[in-house]
Amino acid sequence: MLNPANHKNHKNLRSIAPSLSPCLRGSKKPTNKSIMSAPLQQDHYKVSVKQKDENAQYHAGRGAQINTRNRFLKTETTKEHIEGIDDWEETALPTQYIEQESKTIVNTVESPDVGMSYSMNPYAGCEHGCIYCYARNVHEYWGYSAGMDFEQKIIVKKNAPQLLRKFLMHPKWECRPIMLSGNTDCYQPAEQKYRLTRGLLEVCNEFNQPVGILTKNAWILKDKDVLQEMAKKQLVSAMVSITSFNEDLRRIMEPRTTTAKQKLKVIEELSNAGVRMGIMMGPMIPGLNEHEMQRIMKAARDNGATFTAYTFIRLNGAIKLLFHDWLYKNFPDRADKVWHLIEQSHDGKVNDTRWGVRMRGEGNIAQMVAQQYKKYGKLYGMNAEDWSLNTSIFRRPGAQGKLF
Ligand code: SF4
Repeated sequence: MLNPANHKNHKNLRSIAPSLSPCLRGSKKPTNKSIMSAPLQQDHYKVSVKQKDENAQYHAGRGAQINTRNRFLKTETTKEHIEGIDDWEETALPTQYIEQESKTIVNTVESPDVGMSYSMNPYAGCEHGCIYCYARNVHEYWGYSAGMDFEQKIIVKKNAPQLLRKFLMHPKWECRPIMLSGNTDCYQPAEQKYRLTRGLLEVCNEFNQPVGILTKNAWILKDKDVLQEMAKKQLVSAMVSITSFNEDLRRIMEPRTTTAKQKLKVIEELSNAGVRMGIMMGPMIPGLNEHEMQRIMKAARDNGATFTAYTFIRLNGAIKLLFHDWLYKNFPDRADKVWHLIEQSHDGKVNDTRWGVRMRGEGNIAQMVAQQYKKYGKLYGMNAEDWSLNTSIFRRPGAQGKLF
């Protein structure tokens, strides 16, 4: 089995990655219809189709362009392309929802540097398809690839609200905030069909259970009513994640997320409704978007965000191959530079598992990003308030609550 850790340099990866999944050959090349406003058109990181490898197969609307092998599976099925005999073009696969009755919904979070102790995720996999997403590796536990499978095969935990109710009814639960989207985005497109996040919020509101939310999708506005009710009881705070104002970059890096412009509207509308709103800038990627930090923070503040956080790119597990493949297909002119800058920021590697360091990186570039974050956070008055979610009014409903 191919192990990314065995490849000593990225040039090896470059030659291996495209051959990983002959079954995933696509026919479409990316389109590049820019809808950016005038100031953003001057962005020097603007993507140009001409910069891309014209021979590369590309699945527009998806982040990952290949399926990496699942490290937990002993066998796998692939289609082999025999040159000149069996030539075919495979069309892009639609997203598939795999409905499931799950056993649990609330997970304990072991990592000490993520700022939460519990999380719940009604969906596994994420159609947003962000190429750098650390949750991709988790999809291998479900038997799928961290690559295109992660964006196309979405597991739907259909009984999530019922499971949460049962969990909160348990006398041993001592109220602590729970993070919605601790792993995958709870407002990804599947939510439009299943409304499981809505169901979870309604249960939380009934129990006065505090939640934190992180999303890249404007669908959160559909739940403004319940969020507003919870906000009055100090039971919710939400973060919107913006990584770039460059629409061309967002469209290939986080293809099915909401535009930055719409995300700012989300911040504005929910903060006007009384919800405490924050801005997550994650990840910052040297040579691609790290120069946008100030602009993102200022725009978020101007629209009502009062707190902020960021992460620095790291490429653990299969993401190393996926990101490398994506980077060289989309930015052949600067891929080497970006890759080396990431290496420089993680002690010569691109992956990093060291708690405390892994999300921030180290070295000159990572330090510069950290300094910017500190400087502009202060300038825009971010994280100034002493605020926490309210755990003191948690209550279990009476017999009615057991009927569900
Ligand atoms: S929205 Fe979040 S969970 Fe979904 S792919 Fe992007 S980073 Fe991953």
